[in-house]
Amino acid sequence: MLEQIKVLKYYLYYKYFLRMGSRRRLKKWQERKIQRHLVFVGKKSKIYRGKKDLKEYPIVNKQFMMTNFDRLNTVGIRKKEAEAFAVRAERDRNFVPKLRKITVGLSSGTSGKRGIFLVSDKERVRWAGYILARFLPGSILGKYSIAFFMRADSNLYQSLGSRRIQFHFFDIYRKMEEHQERLIQAKPDILVGQPSVLLMLADEMKRKHFSIIPKVVISIAEVLERGDEERLKAAFQVEVIHQVYQCTEGCLATTCRCGTLHLNEDIVHIEREYLDEYRFVPIVTDFERRAQPIIRYRLNDILIERKNPCSCGSPCLALEKIEGREDDVFFFEGKKGKERVVFPDFIRRCILFAENENGESASDYRVVQESDRTIVVYEDLTEEGKERVRQEFEKLAEETELILPKIAFQPYKQEPGRKMKRVERKFQTEEKA
Ligand SMILES: [Zn+2]
Repeated sequence: MLEQIKVLKYYLYYKYFLRMGSRRRLKKWQERKIQRHLVFVGKKSKIYRGKKDLKEYPIVNKQFMMTNFDRLNTVGIRKKEAEAFAVRAERDRNFVPKLRKITVGLSSGTSGKRGIFLVSDKERVRWAGYILARFLPGSILGKYSIAFFMRADSNLYQSLGSRRIQFHFFDIYRKMEEHQERLIQAKPDILVGQPSVLLMLADEMKRKHFSIIPKVVISIAEVLERGDEERLKAAFQVEVIHQVYQCTEGCLATTCRCGTLHLNEDIVHIEREYLDEYRFVPIVTDFERRAQPIIRYRLNDILIERKNPCSCGSPCLALEKIEGREDDVFFFEGKKGKERVVFPDFIRRCILFAENENGESASDYRVVQESDRTIVVYEDLTEEGKERVRQEFEKLAEETELILPKIAFQPYKQEPGRKMKRVERKFQTEEKA
């Protein structure tokens, strides 16, 4: 019960109390928060001892975090014990136990390297309060049912639950039909899951003629493509598909009431490493995470800034979209010998333009680059459809001066339980190898 009061406290704080006003005020407030946080980190984290100014901190990545795990965290947990603990929880599919009051989790990560994260009880209830403040469709005193489709349950998510807020976890490793009955009974007001799972659920509803009527649908863990967004809006009859862009390293962005993604600059500070005028790689400093400090952590995601401000009036930076992983940028041989970089969005457009030509609605597809000379398109296409896709890639090759790669076609397939990526590069470039 005590815990729920704490969640409520954070809920009220983020929903009603914290008002940033202008961007300038937000930046000023952030600076003070960071400064105070670094005083703590500089004292308690062995690896950062004595560091006071953010610029003194190195830019780090997952490997740094894992290699220096023991000296980095401030709660005295060793990597070995954390790992053993998390693996056991995952194997037993029992995510309730904590290690000395700390929630320990594994992150698979799309790059394949496993990460371990530590979250204290205080951080956990803060997160719950924040998320509820963002997404509850009414007062926190109302009754809600939340259906969560996840790969692993966690203490983290259980803190969202209370007597009024019913929390239902659905294991995405199980078949969709096994969930049907429980899902219907749960009557979720809020439905949360990765886009591929939500799409599967939408198909299942159509096929089996059952329906759920959530007020809020939240997409997590994968890039939400525009086409999929439209399909989900239609299937669940909602005006906005909300998004939480969250990773082990923090809750980085959430959608506002207009459906625009904004950086959560009220809990994280984000430096931008620009790739072109609007695209950037975020470098994250979470000024609320104390157990496992996240300071100047460079993600390998690409975000796109919005050109026009959002009409909701939030001072937090508005995003056009999450483009994808930096690892999924395609590399082709250029006509003039130089390597050409193609961002995932351009690949997506080839598929979408080919579809629109014929007025067909968006269907499932994946494009995988197998080498600098081959790409495979997984999509159920007619011969005509394939030809149109080929033409779009020809146009792209022309415009960006690259040598047209060999394009192979395969029927669409998606492995359940795995993160879906519409655009994916599967070979290492020389520079990255
Ligand atoms: Zn907005």
